[in-house]
Amino acid sequence: ETEAPARSGTLLERAQRVLREVFGYDDFRGDQAQIIERLCAGDDAVVLMPTGGGKSLCYQVPALVREGTGVVISPLIALMHDQVGALEQLGVRAAFLNSTQSIDERRDVERQLLAGELDLIYLAPERLPVAADLLSRTNISLFAIDEAHCVAQWGHDFRPDYLNLSMIAERWPGVPRIALTATATSETRQEIVDRLVLGDAKVFVASFDRPNIQYRVSPKATPKAQLLRLIHEEHAGDAGVVYCLSRKSVENVSEWLRGQGVNALGYHAGMPAETRARHQAKFLREDGVVMVATIAFGMGIDKPDVRFVAHLDLPKSIEGYYQETGRAGRDGLPSTAWLAYGLNDVVQQRRMIAEGEGDAQRKRAQSQHLDAMLALCETVTCRRVQLLAYFGQLSEPCGNCDTCISPPDSWDGTIAAQKLLSTVLRLDRERNGQAFGAGQLIDILTGKTTEKITQWKHDELSTFGIGKDLGDTEWRGVIRQLLAAGVLAVRGEYGVLALTSEAAPVLRGERQLMFRKEPPKPAGSSGRRSR
Ligand code: ADP
Ligand code: ZN
Repeated sequence: ETEAPARSGTLLERAQRVLREVFGYDDFRGDQAQIIERLCAGDDAVVLMPTGGGKSLCYQVPALVREGTGVVISPLIALMHDQVGALEQLGVRAAFLNSTQSIDERRDVERQLLAGELDLIYLAPERLPVAADLLSRTNISLFAIDEAHCVAQWGHDFRPDYLNLSMIAERWPGVPRIALTATATSETRQEIVDRLVLGDAKVFVASFDRPNIQYRVSPKATPKAQLLRLIHEEHAGDAGVVYCLSRKSVENVSEWLRGQGVNALGYHAGMPAETRARHQAKFLREDGVVMVATIAFGMGIDKPDVRFVAHLDLPKSIEGYYQETGRAGRDGLPSTAWLAYGLNDVVQQRRMIAEGEGDAQRKRAQSQHLDAMLALCETVTCRRVQLLAYFGQLSEPCGNCDTCISPPDSWDGTIAAQKLLSTVLRLDRERNGQAFGAGQLIDILTGKTTEKITQWKHDELSTFGIGKDLGDTEWRGVIRQLLAAGVLAVRGEYGVLALTSEAAPVLRGERQLMFRKEPPKPAGSSGRRSR
């Protein structure tokens, strides 16, 4: 029956009929209509849209408008079952192929596919090479590559199997392709276009702003007590998610909250599957459950009335932070994203990167992600402006984040920034292919005569020693905040600091830069530590 609505009229009219008659919606949202029209016409698209923005319809509708079966590549095997189930409810003929199925189940799906009985088929990326011959004998309407940022090698969620997906362009050059993601900086976007051979695709970027979410970052002192205060004073009886880094702290915090009379449950990958499922079901069905969880929780959870998301530990990247906080307030009502951030977080995350798996290049990428997250924590300007800038979107101060509501202590870092930027500029001219990182830069500014300084005659630079008024920590803060402001960028595999086009106005004195004051040293003053 799903074939019926889509046979006459312009492509857009046919798409609108599918939207109404199959999905029961009246209008397309945002760029959906344009994206869908393009795909129906056989062209490629790259779609960057926040979670909940409506990405699925962008390929589901064209798959129903066009002849043949739409192939959806999705890395989340756990969600395929739900997605296919939801489509079947609507009368769409959908199925999936993945490693959790028996041989018989797979054969059955393959038979349906070859018989042209499927509108959509979901595949895990690792199955594509295996299924390629099967697909070659199928009439394919389109390829949709979901979570396309997984192809970005230095992104936060790289999956090697995604590199195989470049074969789609080679083997099926005439079939339209759409790549979709909710997390894309301009670098990730470029990597998606390059690796998936989507040079001719039109790129659609939706706004990533979630205006109803209030972003707040608090210095971490007594995190559990701070969290309890947030719950008592602002979110009593509300549903919320509390993210912790380790399974142990999940257990510890959820138990403690229960002891304080909060309706809290725990969730982490080390729990029995049955317990996790029970907790998740309670969170979804009952009112006012607080889920204390590792980031294993949340993917594909669609609960509209989550009123707060709290982070007791620093997320590893802005992409992660954005995704996790994005689970708050899907219903559009006021919600809180609260993060407790302390020195220990930085030390711990740096150590995790240093001791973790992966080569130097991978670690450098992880450090960059962390640096951007730190800069968001340290910003003295609007957090939302900063967050959106990270995703390449310009905006005005929002009035709905902590720095807008109560501006922090800051200092005028314009002169310091100029000193630093001109040093970068001079190094860039004179380095003869040699890569210098932040350390060398700081040594030059503070006038340290190290071996590496004399070897490269950096003590002869006109900026040598001009930054003695600040310490190493302050200079690191300056660098991090310039990176965050997009005035400095990290380039190439050696992590070389380079100026962006934003640097010129700063150097010319046309742009003032305010930096958050480095917090005073704890010096055991309160006697209470964050662990
Ligand atoms: P994403 O994949 O971008 O996270 P989904 O595709 O899951 O988002 O869509 C989020 C929600 O919005 C779903 O419940 C979906 O049915 C709904 N939705 C999407 N597009 C429309 C539309 N044009 N009209 C009404 N609801 C829509
Ligand atoms: Zn703001």
